[in-house]
Amino acid sequence: MEYVRSSKARPPLPQGPFLVVGLARSGVAAARALKAHGEAVFGVDSGEPEGLELLRESGIDFETSVPGTDRLDGVATVIKSPGVPESAEVIDEASRRGLPVIGELELGWRMFEAPVVAITGTNGKTTTTELTAHLFRSAGRPVSAAGNVGHPVCEVAMEAAAGREVGTVVCECSSFQLEDSVEFSPEVAVFLNLGPDHLDRHGDMGSYLEAKLRIFANQVEGDVAVLNADDPQVAVSETTAAKIRFSTAGAEGAELTLDGETILVDGEPLIEVSEMQIIGRHNVANAMAGAASAIALGLSTDEVAEGLKSFPPVPHRYEPIAEIEEVVFINDSKATNVDATLAAIDSSDRTLHLILGGSTKGEPFDELVGPVAAHCRGIYLIGVTANEIGKALEPAGVEIVRYCEDLEAAVSEAAGAATPGEAVLLSPACASFDQFKNYEDRGDSFRRFVEDLDG
Ligand code: ADP
Repeated sequence: MEYVRSSKARPPLPQGPFLVVGLARSGVAAARALKAHGEAVFGVDSGEPEGLELLRESGIDFETSVPGTDRLDGVATVIKSPGVPESAEVIDEASRRGLPVIGELELGWRMFEAPVVAITGTNGKTTTTELTAHLFRSAGRPVSAAGNVGHPVCEVAMEAAAGREVGTVVCECSSFQLEDSVEFSPEVAVFLNLGPDHLDRHGDMGSYLEAKLRIFANQVEGDVAVLNADDPQVAVSETTAAKIRFSTAGAEGAELTLDGETILVDGEPLIEVSEMQIIGRHNVANAMAGAASAIALGLSTDEVAEGLKSFPPVPHRYEPIAEIEEVVFINDSKATNVDATLAAIDSSDRTLHLILGGSTKGEPFDELVGPVAAHCRGIYLIGVTANEIGKALEPAGVEIVRYCEDLEAAVSEAAGAATPGEAVLLSPACASFDQFKNYEDRGDSFRRFVEDLDG
């Protein structure tokens, strides 16, 4: 097992005045952190985001519902929020003028000194970020969970500037944040897995992978890289850092492995899978990644094992929510792509009644055929993609195929068909925007409909 031996001075902040593009939570945090640092800063957003009172309260000027290009005059550096695409007019114009454009993650990271565990991958980022932070917390070590988990890195920077001990910063890093990083150099970089997602913005798998690999780009000797040895594209990642590899599938030479139902670290037992509250093979992988990161930063294996036992399931992520007449109901509403649904099916040891469908990202569904044929007795199709999924899954020859008007009807049909020992799984392989506000709304609705069944 490798341990972190590096500690890093941060590069200076780039030159102001700053233009912050995108004023959702990360952009607002970036503008406020800059202002608190005494910098000149202005904000723009092409839409009308909520939560701008914080900018007003901080005395930061901004303009909304504008492209923002005419605010570039006199600006020395542009800060780009993760939600803003590379193709946005103002980013294009900034590049044309030769202005540096950096992301909110890069900016926030430059503003505090604490060690960073950065976590990326197509699926499992939030779970692994929360889990890793929990390991530190339960061992009594100060820690901040940051990034996409609703706590931008620039908020951590502000807390650090206000004198709060931020501890180790465990940071969920999306490909969008990584592609706008410049010198970002985490002490521990975790790469969980890679599958097609967000291709609408990245264009192709090559540039999506390239964005993810930026997590390693500036690592130095003494840093650690935690890699999934079971994912061929992840396993070959190049980095100067020392590698720790994890495998649930018996990959040769991995430091974290699975022997039956026991997780081993360097061949020594860490914990039984059944001692954890999170369920599913993909969560074993996430637990291994979190454990490797925590051990690399000095937690003992006993501390890590205790933390793994007390970590509760993360809402909407393969979360068991009820057992009614020996039928288990699992809320995996966050499965918004095919890979996440494949992981969910693969993780289930019960025969499944699977609820699929939602809004489209243009991803094909054919990969589901084999696993659905092997594990599902019923599929219940909802949303815009219902017909497309139904057609793609015809070769699976599933016993029960239902096209349902909405989620409520799907829950009722699935619950009606499931027999004791089986499971009803919401793992839609699609985004939710056709019928719901977001995946949380979809998962909460699922939970409500299931509770109604019980009443
Ligand atoms: P992210 O933050 O990367 O979107 P989440 O932890 O929110 O990841 O999980 C997203 C979806 O992916 C959920 O449906 C979850 O059950 C599934 N998932 C979690 N971990 C993994 C993994 N290691 N491999 C594949 N799917 C996973």
